[in-house]
Amino acid sequence: MLAEVGGREHCRRIALLSRFGRRLGYRADRILGIVTTGSDRHPWILHADLDQFQVAVERRRSPELVDRPVIVGGNGDPEERRKVVTCASYEARALGVHAGMPLRRAYLKAPEAVYLPTDGDTYSEASVEVMDTLRAAGHPVEVWGWDEAYIGLLPDAPDPASARAVDLADRLRRAIAALNLSLSVGIGRNKQQAKTATGFAKQAVDHIFVIDDGDWLPLMGDRPARDLWSIGPRTDAKLRGIGVRSVADLLAVEPQRLTEHFGNHQGRWLYTLARGGGDTSIVTEPPEAKSHSKVETFPDDIDDPFVLAQRVDALAGELLDQVVAEGRIVVRVAVTVRTRSFRTRTKSHTLRDRTIDRAALQAAARALLDAFEIDRPVRLLGVRYDLADGSAAGGNDEASGFAAGAGR
Ligand SMILES: [Mg+2]
Repeated sequence: MLAEVGGREHCRRIALLSRFGRRLGYRADRILGIVTTGSDRHPWILHADLDQFQVAVERRRSPELVDRPVIVGGNGDPEERRKVVTCASYEARALGVHAGMPLRRAYLKAPEAVYLPTDGDTYSEASVEVMDTLRAAGHPVEVWGWDEAYIGLLPDAPDPASARAVDLADRLRRAIAALNLSLSVGIGRNKQQAKTATGFAKQAVDHIFVIDDGDWLPLMGDRPARDLWSIGPRTDAKLRGIGVRSVADLLAVEPQRLTEHFGNHQGRWLYTLARGGGDTSIVTEPPEAKSHSKVETFPDDIDDPFVLAQRVDALAGELLDQVVAEGRIVVRVAVTVRTRSFRTRTKSHTLRDRTIDRAALQAAARALLDAFEIDRPVRLLGVRYDLADGSAAGGNDEASGFAAGAGR
């Protein structure tokens, strides 16, 4: 995404040029003064992102994989249909393979690579180890999945310079290196700046990169708007519809025009994003999930109702294990069916009594499946459980009592 960057020095030099600011007639600091949400609590936000995480974990237990193209995905069989690459090593990326690519396409590009099955349990354990290591530095950590976290630098002296943030990044990198893993750290005034900085950090020699408010325009102005955090293909297409290609183009759009086209909420957000503004809150506990779901895409479409019932049973059971592990209780069950023609339908049922009874939940899922008129072979099946609010176990006798019962 972000290339041709030579590290922090380079960043500073172009910041001095501030060519976008001048070209657009903007005083970057004045604009940024309005929209950035610099916080007293966290003068800097760090975005920590492990490098080629799953591959690195695999290499930790199998050092012979070092320096070889390694691809993690599916069950490790590169000819497995409808499965995608979860993680590709840098050597595999050099061969044109990237995460999200169908395994079979990856195999055409890199037949000589080592293909490994996704081992979620091992990656989860490694992730816990990593997050604990990040937390040990004493600053609040917000986990964003297996291999990503935001860290809010706690203020010390009235010291707005980035030196302390860089020092923390350096310490975190060394602590993670001691686990035999590698970390890149982006540093910014808010989450979006920090995440963007990580894109540059991946290319930097020391894997650390700082973006301050004044660096934003010179660094990002020329880049496509889709390089901005949270701008996906759909928003990008809509932006192109109003003549916006680059971040600088987006900066030049009147705020009213943005809210007209994108609605109040997204319009304001785009206005803020383009100017390097963003969110500075660090939430150390993940918000409680409202629901959990699990889907399965079949290697071959299924038209046998008996086999479908078996699959829905299995999904309902596996999903329940997750719910029970978190000490939650199910209040509603939903089943999704996608047929060969890609028609996707969902039916749901609110349970009379909230439960984590396996047989009851499987029966509810099967009843929902039966209610579909399935006239074509099924490509995908999904089960969702909506969960009772605050049903997290933490000393809740009811939930833990249920959990013990469900362990059978
Ligand atoms: Mg990563």
